[in-house]
Amino acid sequence: MNNVKEKLKKNEYRNWVKGTLGLERTNRALFEYVKAKFEVFTHRRAGPHAYFTEDVYSHIHLGTSCIRSNLKRKIKYDKTNDTWKWTNPCGKCKEAFKSILSMYTNASKKKMHLENCENTTKVTLEWAIARFFMPERNDTNKGPDDTDPAAMINLLLNCHLFTNQIRRNFLIELREARNKLFHSSDNLVNDNVLKVYFFNMKGLLTDASHDTEVDNSIREVIAKDIQTIEQLEEAEISMTLFDDALKIQRKAIYEEYETCLQENNIEQLKVLLKLAENIAADLQFMNDHSEELKNVKVYMTKIEHLQTKEEELNAESMIIIVIVTIGFALLLRMCLYFG
Ligand SMILES: [Zn+2]
Repeated sequence: MNNVKEKLKKNEYRNWVKGTLGLERTNRALFEYVKAKFEVFTHRRAGPHAYFTEDVYSHIHLGTSCIRSNLKRKIKYDKTNDTWKWTNPCGKCKEAFKSILSMYTNASKKKMHLENCENTTKVTLEWAIARFFMPERNDTNKGPDDTDPAAMINLLLNCHLFTNQIRRNFLIELREARNKLFHSSDNLVNDNVLKVYFFNMKGLLTDASHDTEVDNSIREVIAKDIQTIEQLEEAEISMTLFDDALKIQRKAIYEEYETCLQENNIEQLKVLLKLAENIAADLQFMNDHSEELKNVKVYMTKIEHLQTKEEELNAESMIIIVIVTIGFALLLRMCLYFG
């Protein structure tokens, strides 16, 4: 229990808190910017630069349009040409879909996660389109507030609207920083590494604040956010900030846990469980989060269940191997006998 107090005395631990909170704030600073960029390019305001014609826009901006629901039944992956194809009779949605595909950065076209776009009837048009570029498990993402740093970084990397303006290097570095911060088993970050993290966060936001395609008001807000992030870099770390950082890490781990569970990735699940236990222990000390321990127990049961299932499967395949071997042996004997 003294563990947490001891941890907070360490400079490297306070660095971890700063890095984690910095990343979360960088993510928040991008919310309005990302929304505005999609609005500019997908709505009428962009004039000749708009991705959709007036006609297409009027059709797809309604949640009831064809491209907003049952998408899986309307598109198909064409392996020969390595691209997605629209197979539904609606010409306007076909055109819209083609425009969305053209916004992908090359390598990511195959990474379209259909679940995310299967039903976008209840979100705004710009967010319906944003979901095409998000990583998996964003099928209920209702807007920027629902978007964690990992989803935001991937969205920006996958879409041409952003890679022109925001340097790719910053994004790639931040994606790595995010994984290191959230998957850290000791939550320690040294001074030099922290400096690099903040350099990339500020670089990314500075680039966004220079983007003349969005309104001045949005750019001014980002400029202020950069100042807040600079202050955080020098700030004293309070227990509240520490608690906030742990909650951010906790959320990320549980989300990944769900993904690994779907993929039956037992090894990764065990690693995540260990991290979740550490966080639970720290949070428990500070705020008596008994809920946290319940979560950990639920996940432990799920892992045990998966393991039993795997063992059963292994046993089944062993039986099959034995049967096949006996079969072969018999066949061989028969061949010898009749041969
Ligand atoms: Zn349509």
